[in-house]
Amino acid sequence: MNSLSLHWRIIIGMILGVFWSIISSLLGLSQFTINWISPFGDIFINLLKLIAIPLVLFSVIKGISSISNISLLGRIGLKTLFAYLMTTVLSVSIGLLLVNCIKPGSQISLEQRQANHLVYQKWSADELLSDGSGFLPGDNLSKEKIKQMKIDADKHKNNSPLQFIVDLVPSNIFLSLTDNKSMLKIIFFAIFFGITIVLISKKEAVPVIAMVDALNSVFLKMVDVVMLGAPFFVFALLSGVISKLAGDDLSGVLEIFKGLGVYSLVVFFGLATMVFLIYPILMYLFTGKTYKDFFQSIASAQMLAFSTSSSAATLPVTMDCVHSNLGVSKRVTGFVLPIGATVNMDGTSLYQAVAVVFLAQMHMVDLNLTQQLTIVFTATMASIGSAAVPSAGLIMLIIVLDAVGLNPAWISIIFPVDRILDMCRTVVNVTGDATVSSIVDQSEKNT
Ligand code: ASP
Repeated sequence: MNSLSLHWRIIIGMILGVFWSIISSLLGLSQFTINWISPFGDIFINLLKLIAIPLVLFSVIKGISSISNISLLGRIGLKTLFAYLMTTVLSVSIGLLLVNCIKPGSQISLEQRQANHLVYQKWSADELLSDGSGFLPGDNLSKEKIKQMKIDADKHKNNSPLQFIVDLVPSNIFLSLTDNKSMLKIIFFAIFFGITIVLISKKEAVPVIAMVDALNSVFLKMVDVVMLGAPFFVFALLSGVISKLAGDDLSGVLEIFKGLGVYSLVVFFGLATMVFLIYPILMYLFTGKTYKDFFQSIASAQMLAFSTSSSAATLPVTMDCVHSNLGVSKRVTGFVLPIGATVNMDGTSLYQAVAVVFLAQMHMVDLNLTQQLTIVFTATMASIGSAAVPSAGLIMLIIVLDAVGLNPAWISIIFPVDRILDMCRTVVNVTGDATVSSIVDQSEKNT
């Protein structure tokens, strides 16, 4: 078993997890799985998150202080942001193209869509949250919960256009360090700290850099240690997720997918296009890495992204894979990946574009070109604003629906299949980060 590489062991853990959840569902043991196996999955996510904040802090400081030239830092920063933005816009566009061609929303019966349309008209007249009638079976998000999600999303919307810059600057770094959602603030502090190290005298800087280096190595080692248990933890995670979805009645899961099947397939297909076509092509064109090399190098990070649904939790492993297997320099890994995990979510933006158009189609609402362009813009922004945690993309979808005048409560329609789509879009988010960091690193080597 030990001779098998880690990603194979993780795959075996995943397959066993799916098998176990099916068996336990058939034997009526789902509650046992939820009580006694699933908690190990939560422990795994906690362990990864525990490492993520200090690792980001020390690796960004290390990355920045090793650049030692502010204009070089600016150049890498601009290249990174440009590449992230381009891949996100490309991804939204692929999503829009697919959903407009395949039209998953039109698969629903005409009567149902007409009924949906009436509910929509009533809602747009009232501009109140819909009463939920006309939703597909499987709708299980309460109105209170949707309202809370809307309030969360509105916090992002009603602010000044400069609010995102204000939000970048922490007023108390110790508070930010205690909050996993404050990754951008921590990155800001780390960049500031790293630049200041460059500005102080060499004599004073050397011990600080040595300490940061050593701490960084400790946290990287922690990743290796935690990953030793990854196959088992992934088994626990997957069996827990499926058992919670299915309970003791597996047919329930199939029922949910029946209504939302074509929509889910369009999202899968779009995400697969990004992972299996776009990123490998970009990698080959810009870095010369072959298909096999690329996937072998980042497979462990992809598996973890799939199992945890969180780019933030996966970040320590992504950094390890990109540095050790793809050969990206530490200074680029430490700078580009933590930013990417927080702002670059190609999978999330693609899913948001497909979801909005699908929901419009099933309510017989035609979206014109301006509205579709609004989707490109808001889905890009909403994916930047999404935290790198499970279901964040679903909450931010409210902003995109709002922007094109659709009912935010419709998120409850797609909620039943969201977890599985979240697992897949997180793989895309992580693969996109790995691709951009390799491209930025290569472009630095060429200059
Ligand atoms: N779970 C995703 C991530 O962590 C975000 C989302 O789309 O919900 O990357």
